[in-house]
Amino acid sequence: PLLDSEGARRAYELDRKHVFHSWSAQDLLDPMVIAGAQGSYVWDGEGNKYLDFSSQLVNTNIGHQHPAVVAAITEQAAKLCTIAPSYVNDARSEAARLIAERTPGELNRIFFTNGGADANEHAVRMARLHTGRQKVLSAYRSYHGGTQLAVNLTGDPRRWANDTASTGTVHFFPPYLYRTAFHSTTQEEESQRALEHLEQLIAYEGPATIAAIILESIPGTAGIYLPPPGYLEGVRELCTRFGIVMIADEVMSGFGRTGKWFAVEHFNVVPDLLTFAKGVNSGYVPMGGVAISPEIAATFGTRVYPGGLTYSGHPLAAAAAVATINAMDREGMVEHAAELGRSVIGPALAGFAQRHVSVGEARGTGVFWAIELVRDRETREPLAPYGSSSGEMNQLLAACKSRGLLPFANFNRIHVVPPCNIGTADTEAGLAILDEVLDIADGMVG
Ligand code: PLP
Repeated sequence: PLLDSEGARRAYELDRKHVFHSWSAQDLLDPMVIAGAQGSYVWDGEGNKYLDFSSQLVNTNIGHQHPAVVAAITEQAAKLCTIAPSYVNDARSEAARLIAERTPGELNRIFFTNGGADANEHAVRMARLHTGRQKVLSAYRSYHGGTQLAVNLTGDPRRWANDTASTGTVHFFPPYLYRTAFHSTTQEEESQRALEHLEQLIAYEGPATIAAIILESIPGTAGIYLPPPGYLEGVRELCTRFGIVMIADEVMSGFGRTGKWFAVEHFNVVPDLLTFAKGVNSGYVPMGGVAISPEIAATFGTRVYPGGLTYSGHPLAAAAAVATINAMDREGMVEHAAELGRSVIGPALAGFAQRHVSVGEARGTGVFWAIELVRDRETREPLAPYGSSSGEMNQLLAACKSRGLLPFANFNRIHVVPPCNIGTADTEAGLAILDEVLDIADGMVG
């Protein structure tokens, strides 16, 4: 830890006095001081050590303080800290090449942003200008960011208080068999019915008014519910048929998290635009972006793209991205994430779902998993209502922390989303803690 207890106390006091936190009632907060972090671990202000099964906000895909990335940022800082986006910068050029090489199909042009929300804002702007249409369709049970348009695209309760501007967004039901909106009994049925619903929605909204459909290739915060067979392929076909731009939001699912570079690779689909952020440089320096198809890039060949950012392709962020991607390659982290999902996390969670009455469903791939907690397996009543938490969920999260595990949670779910390079023994240790905590959950619902 880099902070002693006196330093931690002062940081806490100043935070409570001067820092305004995201998505929070400021006076009700009691945030944890992080005194240090290394690999898959963090230390609090009292010197307690925690295994980070959250990867913070599911972004430290290579863990904390990877020496190669820290060195690359340091070297870049010594060379050139910043330069305007209109100039050529070697770190930015190389980051764009490495990303373009990994995105599917011919998504070979990269527009850099500062994070995920503005990546989605720019993707929609490109789609609108490319098609000359305004409306954008997005899914319920989704998250696309906190800026005005991005939060309007979002399909979770964070949108409600922000639905003040007319942004031309229309929501549809995604396929989600465990809580199906279509009364389906199989994944195939769910896929087909969700596609029929989307096709009807397009017809009623007017295909000629729809610029884009945006969706997370595998939805993250909303529940890591994998699209059933044929769904993304069906969305691709609808987009192609009606001249609608398909935007895949890979902000959370990208850069190794699902056991492939991008989650769309699990399906036979190439979107027209792909947005990324978070894992692109493990969150070491803020960066996001849009990978652009040749057709959409060509729209802005001789016509000005009306958008930009002072920090588009910032050298420190770009150098961190280059070093992160190279480290992931060199150390086989994407393959490791796939293997952890296949042979460690997947089997353990399948066991939880069998043994723990509080577990309604466990699902995921790679290092991207959700455990859905229920009061009753028959009715599937969630342990916290949609859009909210509960005393029980808070107790379970506290039980994780008191055992040295930092979890990621949303409503009635605990997500297992450690770094892609977490060790097998650490993964097993974290899962053993979860197993214990699920015993407590069983007692609450049993
Ligand atoms: N899209 C998805 C799928 C996300 O998970 C997030 C953040 O959690 C965002 C967009 C927004 O990214 P940012 O917070 O970097 O703006």
